[in-house]
Amino acid sequence: MQLSSRATSLTPSLSLSIDSKAKAMKSEGIDVCTFAAGEPDFDTPEHIKAAAIAALESGFTKYTPSSGIPELRQAISEKLHRDNGINYKPNQIVVSTGAKHSCYNAILATCQPGDEVIIPSPYWLSYPEMVRLAGAEPVFVQTKEENAWKLTREEFENAMTPRTKMIIINSPNNPTGAVYTRGELEALGAVAAEEEILILADEIYEKLVYDENVHVSMASLGQEYYDLTITVNGFSKAYAMTGWRLGYLAAPEPVAKAIDSIQSHVTSNPCSFAQKGGLAALQGDQQTVIDMRDEFDMRRQYMVERFSKIQNVSIVRPGGAFYVLANISKLGLTSQNFADRLLSKANVTVVPGIAFGDDRTIRFSYATSLDVIKKGMDRFEDFCRTL
Ligand SMILES: *Cc1c(COP(=O)(O)O)cnc(C)c1O
Repeated sequence: MQLSSRATSLTPSLSLSIDSKAKAMKSEGIDVCTFAAGEPDFDTPEHIKAAAIAALESGFTKYTPSSGIPELRQAISEKLHRDNGINYKPNQIVVSTGAKHSCYNAILATCQPGDEVIIPSPYWLSYPEMVRLAGAEPVFVQTKEENAWKLTREEFENAMTPRTKMIIINSPNNPTGAVYTRGELEALGAVAAEEEILILADEIYEKLVYDENVHVSMASLGQEYYDLTITVNGFSKAYAMTGWRLGYLAAPEPVAKAIDSIQSHVTSNPCSFAQKGGLAALQGDQQTVIDMRDEFDMRRQYMVERFSKIQNVSIVRPGGAFYVLANISKLGLTSQNFADRLLSKANVTVVPGIAFGDDRTIRFSYATSLDVIKKGMDRFEDFCRTL
């Protein structure tokens, strides 16, 4: 059967292949320390599960409006006002099957063949493929370690062409942990506003910020920013709900309407009872979010401390999310080679940076217990000494 060029041009996820290798080793009884996780290692809080169970038991098992149940869109509207300082009416909000789906919907509704989408690198590995699926072209801009892996105004300007349609800004960032300040976002947003370039603001890690960092939403910076921004967020990271497949975006009304149209033909609504869980997440006690954040922060500080003592490996202290990006280029291996050898020689999994567009780095996730982190960092340190 002849596959479409759309399908054959996709790159399979590297992080998943590492994961399956690690699982195979584990099933052979090998003690593998994994830093490859892309999801919180916590369980979904009980009150959220209870709300979904109650919804199921009451028969809330039918189709809902494609863009989500009104009470959830209302709660998201209130959340975006309260937490992010942005005013979106419920009809500007589309709930989807994960923030990933929201990103894809946003790109599909706005980008087409001939358009370029600027993606700061290292990047979350799904962005380029989503852009390609929309028939548009990703344009990568390498950010610098000395700039804490953050895109500068000049770098953005230099990457711009008459075909630039959109820029994707992910703060807090996966894989770098970078958190953009208000001033940095204002500078980038001003460039976008001048040229009327759309901004996809992926804010899925907003609740996971540390030290003096604060999360700032692009759309909150002023009307000219708001008019160009599609704000994406969801439940997976803040509420440990990755398997529920629930996320959302908020956008100017015509954009939200177009996205709802697309979604209504492709997936219809997100899972009905998952939406009730999402509602409970937003309306319930937020202490679980703070507790998870504090646990991540403790692990992060431990990791940073360990990296500070490892020769020839550099990191930028991550300000958010749950990743540490380590520059291993001084050790003389490609990221894939490094990750393969680290797994076979030291039983430690990481994701090679090549998956994020940066072959000098490897990504450590600290969404795993402190015991595993300690043991894994001991092994990593020993491994680096052998190179
Ligand atoms: C995890 C993640 C998402 C998507 O999460 P969903 O589970 O689809 O809600 C989006 N963007 C980034 C950068 C992520 O790491």
